[in-house]
Amino acid sequence: MDCYAKAFFIIIYKCRIGLLAFVLACATGLSAQQADFGAPLKIPPELSGSFAELRGHHFHAGLDFKTLQKEGFPVYAIADGTLSRVVVSGTGYGKALYISHANGMMSVYAHLQRFIPFVEQVIREQQYAKKTFELDMTFPESLQFKKGDLIGYSGNSGSSGGPHLHFELRNKGGENALNPALWGYSVKDDIPPVISTFAIYPSDHHSLANGRSTPLLLPVKCRGKDCLLAQDTIRVFGQMAFGIEAIDKSNGSANKLGLFTMKVFINDELKFAWKLEDVLFSQTRYINAFFDYAHYDTTGKRIQWTYRLPGNRLNIYEKINNRGVYPFFENGVHHVRVEASDVAGNTAVLSVVLQVDDQMESLESKSFLSEELNHSRFFSHAISNTFETDEIKVTIPAKALYEPIYFDYFMESSLNPHIYSKIHHVHHSGTPVHTNYSLKIKPEGLPKTLENKALIGSLDTKENKWIAEGGRLKNGFVSLNIKKFSIFAVCIDTTEPTIKPIDVFNNNVPISQTQLTFRIDDDFSGIGNYVATLNGRWFLMEYDPKTKTLKGMIDAKLPKGEHEFKLTVSDKMSNSAVYKAKIVRQ
Ligand SMILES: [Zn+2]
Repeated sequence: MDCYAKAFFIIIYKCRIGLLAFVLACATGLSAQQADFGAPLKIPPELSGSFAELRGHHFHAGLDFKTLQKEGFPVYAIADGTLSRVVVSGTGYGKALYISHANGMMSVYAHLQRFIPFVEQVIREQQYAKKTFELDMTFPESLQFKKGDLIGYSGNSGSSGGPHLHFELRNKGGENALNPALWGYSVKDDIPPVISTFAIYPSDHHSLANGRSTPLLLPVKCRGKDCLLAQDTIRVFGQMAFGIEAIDKSNGSANKLGLFTMKVFINDELKFAWKLEDVLFSQTRYINAFFDYAHYDTTGKRIQWTYRLPGNRLNIYEKINNRGVYPFFENGVHHVRVEASDVAGNTAVLSVVLQVDDQMESLESKSFLSEELNHSRFFSHAISNTFETDEIKVTIPAKALYEPIYFDYFMESSLNPHIYSKIHHVHHSGTPVHTNYSLKIKPEGLPKTLENKALIGSLDTKENKWIAEGGRLKNGFVSLNIKKFSIFAVCIDTTEPTIKPIDVFNNNVPISQTQLTFRIDDDFSGIGNYVATLNGRWFLMEYDPKTKTLKGMIDAKLPKGEHEFKLTVSDKMSNSAVYKAKIVRQ
């Protein structure tokens, strides 16, 4: 009866999604009121981002509610709870607020423009006490919110690509992100997902798809929910895995959203299924093993595998045999059906016919000599591996890789006067790395005076430019812990950041002016630190990296006359620029 007493529409909704979610909700023992969450915004819900949508190195942990491309919409507590955490940052969630509800549930509201005045005041005091704009604080007062209480205003703060409200529901002490659509936060959606590519992965050199052992990518056309390959029949022989590129759409929104479930049937038998009901934050980086990372690295497109790499520990797989690799040895026709569903239950169905052909000849002249040469560099993902020469040391801990690799490496000399080492090609950028590994590069021709300006850079081959990664010279090597393979070298940063005043003209600040704005930028290692003072006292400035602006509010009580303003901006290699002005308050 306890379950039955829940908010009626949520029960209806959960029954539609499936009995599992319903049973789960009941098992957590939520009372009617706690499950009866309210809306965080009063404007009609439209999504620009869905739960578990594929993002850079993580699954999207919540919903992105559109805010009519404007900031400043009131945001409300979805249920009674305690303000447990407030974050203020120029990156990530920007200004974000966390409310803890009963039974370990938590709601998160991110990219806010500002908080309610009481919270703003507590934050301001902390910022001045700690002399920092960025804060991550558990709230000192145990501030209680009631369902529907105003808690702040929607914005575009942090790493946000436009005004919206990022909203999350969590449990397990805030460590597990729940799919809010399963908790009543649904939008109108009767449009099925769209599948655009079907990929076949022969799993070894002896397996062939259309005569090749390399991945076979085939365009897909969908009419409504029915999707077909442009090509009729695919010839295969051997062990195969599959993948699809697919997105979802909802009514009245042009945004590309994520899938909720994917299933593979072979000859009408369910062989594989995953479901994105929740994602542990500790597992979210396994997304790099969830789709074809190498294809993403070269094309920017994500083919979601119906295959699990050995080191992928995501717990979303409901059905999987042999990690999703299927044998196709017996001559004849096999029907593969891939079903991709959104959280509203709309399903796209891709039907593929595979013809097993044991007479198929390989069309490839490719030799596998390079891998054979590298047999000495076989790195198992299960153990720690080291590669070392006089010039470089790479130490990859156990479980940093998702599968065994033949570690590829070569070194070349550089003629670039800004490079202070050999250029090291450390494996391939298309191979994902889950945790940090240790990279040490020996500098070459680095003057003593520049030793504290040396860092490791990686080469962005698309833009053909070096990107600062960080690191420090220690025991004769520039050392860095990093989570990617790339082309690396020792670079230096000796140039200080630039500071450009935006609204200070001839050092005058009229009485009507309420803020000071600067554009700050750094050419390589990036902005590391900034400190502003007004008449010698610390002055709060907010840094927004995406617009490269630094903004400070002038106290209305600042008296007329001359005031000393000083701004010091340093990059990550401690090169500093100073802007000083006598500001005349008129
Ligand atoms: Zn978001």
